[in-house]
Amino acid sequence: MGKPTGFLEYERSLPKDRTPEERICDWNEIHTHFDVEKLKIQGARCMNCGVPFCHTGDIVGNYAIGCPLHNLIPEWNDLVYRGDMDEAYRRLSMTNNFPEFTGRVCPALCEGSCTLGMNDLPVTVRNIECHIIDTAFENGKVTPRIPKKSTEKRVAIIGSGPAGLACADSLNQMGHKVTVFERSDRAGGLLMYGIPNMKLDKKIVQRRIDLMTDEGVVFKLSTEVGKNYPAVRLISDYDAVVICTGAANPRPLTVEGSDLNGVHFAVEYLSKTTKSLLDSGLKDHNYIDAKDKNVVIIGGGDTGNDCVGTAIRQGSKSVVQLEIMPEPPHERQPQNPWPEWPIVKKVDYGQEESISKFGRDPRIYETTVTKIEGDEKGAVKAVHTTGVKRVFDEKGMRFENIKGSEKILDADLVLIAMGFLGPETELLKHLTLEMTKRTNIQADEKDHKTSVRGIFAAGDCRRGQSLVVWAIKEGRDAAKAVDDYLSTY
Ligand SMILES: Cc1cc2nc3c(=O)[nH]c(=O)nc-3n(C[C@H](O)[C@H](O)[C@H](O)COP(=O)(O)OP(=O)(O)OC[C@H]3O[C@@H](n4cnc5c(N)ncnc54)[C@H](O)[C@@H]3O)c2cc1C
Ligand code: SF4
Repeated sequence: MGKPTGFLEYERSLPKDRTPEERICDWNEIHTHFDVEKLKIQGARCMNCGVPFCHTGDIVGNYAIGCPLHNLIPEWNDLVYRGDMDEAYRRLSMTNNFPEFTGRVCPALCEGSCTLGMNDLPVTVRNIECHIIDTAFENGKVTPRIPKKSTEKRVAIIGSGPAGLACADSLNQMGHKVTVFERSDRAGGLLMYGIPNMKLDKKIVQRRIDLMTDEGVVFKLSTEVGKNYPAVRLISDYDAVVICTGAANPRPLTVEGSDLNGVHFAVEYLSKTTKSLLDSGLKDHNYIDAKDKNVVIIGGGDTGNDCVGTAIRQGSKSVVQLEIMPEPPHERQPQNPWPEWPIVKKVDYGQEESISKFGRDPRIYETTVTKIEGDEKGAVKAVHTTGVKRVFDEKGMRFENIKGSEKILDADLVLIAMGFLGPETELLKHLTLEMTKRTNIQADEKDHKTSVRGIFAAGDCRRGQSLVVWAIKEGRDAAKAVDDYLSTY
């Protein structure tokens, strides 16, 4: 513990994001970095707790608390305070394959359970993590680690999101020959085509893919297993297969008018924008354009927020985000105590930008869609909504429409961001895998084995729609399970 009284002397402080007015004019990352002296002060706030809840990664009540990767947070906070950034990087990379991703996009479960959060603001763990890895890259400390031994065992990984990448990286370091099959033209899964560039610059994703390629991982891009690469061939050609295909099956909107022109799923909208940005700086116009349009986003969560930020950068006329749930409280409630994840209202970057550009938060709570209206050409024209009341009864939670609260919103573009219903099932049928009741792949949380011998599953396709940090954790755990399997089969 660098400074025993640091938490008493210093306040939590983060580097200021670029202003909304500046950042909506480009697609660059919104965050900036502290200088190292300010970062040391933030590291000094860590109390090096006897029981550091920040790195537990346990489930308490219904919530995960602390870092699922069990990052050695108090240790690197102390090292940062002492100015030993090289050792901090070494400790960080022991538990996290890709801190440059989590340091940018993780909601920071660690901070939600930091002991300081009981009566003060938590340590700025995520920012410190990002600074450690970015400094390591800048100083040339992150270089290809070529495995010293080869087991000659061949492992195929389907899907190159954070779960597939973490699994591939770990197995490669264990000496196995790893091939990652990816149907997109670029690797990275939702890190590449999903999370927008302003939150995670795609150069940072590509830098890691290039590093892994130099280390011996083979990426077969534009290769969809089950379509242009037979699934059965995979089983005969490889010693083990790990499915990391994500939970790409979006929850559909089932009201009248959902099939009109101008109604799209959020990930299609976000990924086409990123692809066009990377391919041509948006000059090819191969994306769904919100310019001069009234945009209605159905879903008040993080994906919806990414759509808000993207639509504003494209020059939308207005943006509204509809949310069926009630507005969260501004402070932790007694039924949601520390160290649980705090369920509080946050204003994310897209919503901040809407406030700056349109003078209001785009979210409308306790509202659902009853119909989408089209014009004579079959294009969306308006969204009909109603207010709802949340009711709990013996059957669980349901929503009742409130009479007289109906509204009609002008809309030229409707984006559906209502979550996901598990993995696409085509490939899974080819492989005759068992599924859970919640339409995820049936595989044990510890050994990641599916119902078919030699086939493993990790990430959102197994646990359902989740977070990058959980996908990395699943990929690492699956790699250990595959290694065990290969040493005995
Ligand atoms: C818009 C959006 C924003 C998000 N923002 C955040 C955030 O800020 N922070 C956070 O922690 N989490 C965020 N998430 C969640 C996070 O991105 C996911 O939990 C995580 O990416 C899941 O990782 P994965 O590897 O399991 O799957 P994915 O990242 O979904 O990757 C699966 C990959 O498999 C490929 N694939 C599928 N089928 C096949 C096949 N048959 N053959 C070959 N390839 C195939 C897909 O093309 C894809 O590349 C966000 C999600 C979305 C949708
Ligand atoms: S819980 Fe907070 S104060 Fe305690 S060790 Fe972790 S980061 Fe430091």
